[in-house]
Amino acid sequence: MDKQRLYDDLIKAYKATHKKSESFFLKASQLEVRGGSHNLRLFNPFPFYDVSAKGSRVTDVDGHTYVDFWQGHFANILGHNPKIILDALLNLYRKGQGLTTGFPGRLEEELAQLILKQLGADKIRFTTSGTLASMYAVMLSRSFTKRGLVLKAGGGWHGAQPYLLKGVSTYREGLDSIESAGLPEGADSMILVTKFNDTEDLGEIFRKCGEQISCFIVEPFIGAGGFIFGHKEYLRRARELTRNHGSLLIFDEVVSGFRFHPGGLQTLYGIVPDLTVLGKAIGGGMPTAAVAGRADVMALCGPEAKPEEKVKFEGGTFCSHPATMLAGITFLKDLIQNASKIYPKIGRLGAKVRKGLEEIFAAHGFNLKCTGYGDTLGISSSLVGAHFLHEDIERIDKPEQVWNPAVNDVELRENVFKLAMIQEGFNIFHGYGAISAAHTEKEIDASLDAAERIAKKWKKYRGSKN
Ligand code: PLP
Repeated sequence: MDKQRLYDDLIKAYKATHKKSESFFLKASQLEVRGGSHNLRLFNPFPFYDVSAKGSRVTDVDGHTYVDFWQGHFANILGHNPKIILDALLNLYRKGQGLTTGFPGRLEEELAQLILKQLGADKIRFTTSGTLASMYAVMLSRSFTKRGLVLKAGGGWHGAQPYLLKGVSTYREGLDSIESAGLPEGADSMILVTKFNDTEDLGEIFRKCGEQISCFIVEPFIGAGGFIFGHKEYLRRARELTRNHGSLLIFDEVVSGFRFHPGGLQTLYGIVPDLTVLGKAIGGGMPTAAVAGRADVMALCGPEAKPEEKVKFEGGTFCSHPATMLAGITFLKDLIQNASKIYPKIGRLGAKVRKGLEEIFAAHGFNLKCTGYGDTLGISSSLVGAHFLHEDIERIDKPEQVWNPAVNDVELRENVFKLAMIQEGFNIFHGYGAISAAHTEKEIDASLDAAERIAKKWKKYRGSKN
């Protein structure tokens, strides 16, 4: 397929219809590196700039409205700007409150109680981003075990923090390269990378150096690594191996927390990690994150910790920000109260999209396969990845496949299909993205119709190989 010509045509069409966004981008680029502060938002040739977002939709400065499956980095399970949260915040602001005070506040205790109850964890401490939370979780583990090595799964993204910036998405005969300059000396040898869902590889690493491993951090549902659920036996084995070797098991539930049911995915698996990293959804659209877990581990950032074991887990100036706590409480209460309506609905729509996309593209001669399937685990999943695989690849179930250009046309997924769907009025990510409670069946069907039109159009670019 003449992908470059297709991409060039899409860019031309996008530029012609996004003049105001382009001029925003040019101005922003003079001030901010690449025109923005989070690379994931800055797709080529330039991102559209939003003026409003409500429910399933977002409207940009050029007047286009899209059905949005990005939904705030997948955090917005109720859709954009839910009224229930805005009302709670407006009430707080009307009382002349809601900005940072620097005091603990009673809201903090309420959100802590809600999360701990849903997780069944002992203690929690808040911070402002999933990145910081995963960093603190690793620091707690290193102090608790008095060990230096940190083990993670290839494809796992835990934020840009020095303990875990290896084996994320750069494919070089596998996913195990250091992915940033400026890391502390020795970072490469301190971070071990194992293959996600590969029980043998995990066993082998623990056999070789289990006594030096402080923690194994893993997403029970790997997000950036391709929307793939951990196998139950794999996560159980991870629990066993960490326990047997005196290492800690950290579940990073920044993506999976409250996404599949009102709590951690760990509850559905029946596996209790030592620590859980939370972010995204727990803030109800506001910036908060947390580490929750065992009292004896969490105590290392408390006053009773011995000086040589004390972990400097200071949540930050803006941690437990009052408006953020209120948004989180309002959001989680709504999810808990309406769980029986919300989760089956968004899960069913996810299943419809996965089946629909695969069938549509197959009918037009493309080997598109979806990820996000949780059916074998009995989990209805509202997250959908879509991957354009090379002809001989039957299915996709490993982060290595997600990022290996010899298996998966990463550019087609991340850039070309994205622009094609934008042109059709749908903002997607990683091939599709996150379905929220605000999305309607009609919108989902319309997104499949759009995919069908795209698949038909792409036929005319065929003739040369992917
Ligand atoms: N952990 C996971 C699994 C994530 O997906 C992310 C972000 O996408 C993070 C941690 C980092 O969170 P944040 O972007 O809030 O720093």
